[in-house]
Amino acid sequence: MESWAGHEVPGLPGSGQPLALFDSARRAVHPATPAGAATMYVCGITPYDATHLGHAATMITFDLVQRVWRDNGHPVLYVQNVTDIDDPLLERAQRDGEDWVVLAMRETALFREDMEALRIMPPAHYVGAVESIPDIAEKVQVLLKDGAAYRVEDGTGDVYFDVAAAPRFGHESNLSREQMLAFSAERGGDPERAGKRDPLDPLLWRGARADEPSWPGGDLGPGRPGWHIECAAIALNLLGPTIDVQGGGNDLLFPHHECSAAHAERLTGVTPFARHYVHAGMIGLDGEKMSKSKGNLVFVSRLRADKVDSMAVRLGLLAGHYRSDRSWTDAVLATATARLGRWRAAAAAPAGPSAVELLARVRGRLADDLDTPGVLELVDGWADATLAGSGTDAEAPALMARTVDALLGIRL
Ligand code: ZN
Repeated sequence: MESWAGHEVPGLPGSGQPLALFDSARRAVHPATPAGAATMYVCGITPYDATHLGHAATMITFDLVQRVWRDNGHPVLYVQNVTDIDDPLLERAQRDGEDWVVLAMRETALFREDMEALRIMPPAHYVGAVESIPDIAEKVQVLLKDGAAYRVEDGTGDVYFDVAAAPRFGHESNLSREQMLAFSAERGGDPERAGKRDPLDPLLWRGARADEPSWPGGDLGPGRPGWHIECAAIALNLLGPTIDVQGGGNDLLFPHHECSAAHAERLTGVTPFARHYVHAGMIGLDGEKMSKSKGNLVFVSRLRADKVDSMAVRLGLLAGHYRSDRSWTDAVLATATARLGRWRAAAAAPAGPSAVELLARVRGRLADDLDTPGVLELVDGWADATLAGSGTDAEAPALMARTVDALLGIRL
């Protein structure tokens, strides 16, 4: 599938600082510094609705990971998927009396526009579930032959993964069985489904239903893939058995990332599937959880249509730490807009205090688990000093602008 357009990233003097990130599996910050090329897989959207600020915050988080790695001289191989066939997409299309293919294409196109506006560097491979079905079906067949998967004996053709075949199951999310059961019910799993060996067993292949689209699955029979095996198969095919970072929002901790890792590790025999499982916090609105059921989603495209500067949106999301669940409010946007104005004024000043130390300190803050609030404070300090007329370095304003462009993705 076509990705979106990238942009020139300015080079910076000196060298970057090695990145450390919080790994959800080990529940601590650990070095995320590959020996050579870095590999990252980020779970993308299910395109039944427009990109909201929660998606934007997640994509910005992993954009920073890519920027810091590149600043350290690592080539980055980044893959993102789009789940262009799944229950939520079919349900929305049915509700609105729309063709699910048209809905998916339209929302994916809008997502690309939003990503470009927010200056998210594109993945090397942007991969749809539909185009990956032959690969996914092949992996499901391997799991079946291997005894790690089974068919439910009710004539549906549905195939499930047997969590008993994954001795490490639970290691990524660190959840109790009760918590796993609750999240499974809440987040697209089907713990109540009759005929499963374990209520936590995730769907690998859904046999064809009369009123649903389906594809040939070889020995599996016609059907469509489950969500977790989709990501495992795409990541294994394009990135190999071990990746440096698997990323997504913190609502993907369980069951999605746990199950993807279980599938991948069973298929390859290699552990861990990801050296770091990295999760971005949720974005609420005015202190409430942002959700489609509450009808309070803030869409990036809506903000763009309202002529809100996308760089202010990006700065507003960077004002909180990526791991924290946080709220979007009018005040957050107003603060970000004012900050962007000050930074632009300072970047246009004839001179300022040297920005060489600023660059080193910004690199240090980002390397420490992407401490963006710390970075914003540093740049604020430099901008305030510049606007107060201190400093005589005529090259500093341009270096500061290049720093926030390359490392934060903020174009002044
Ligand atoms: Zn995924």
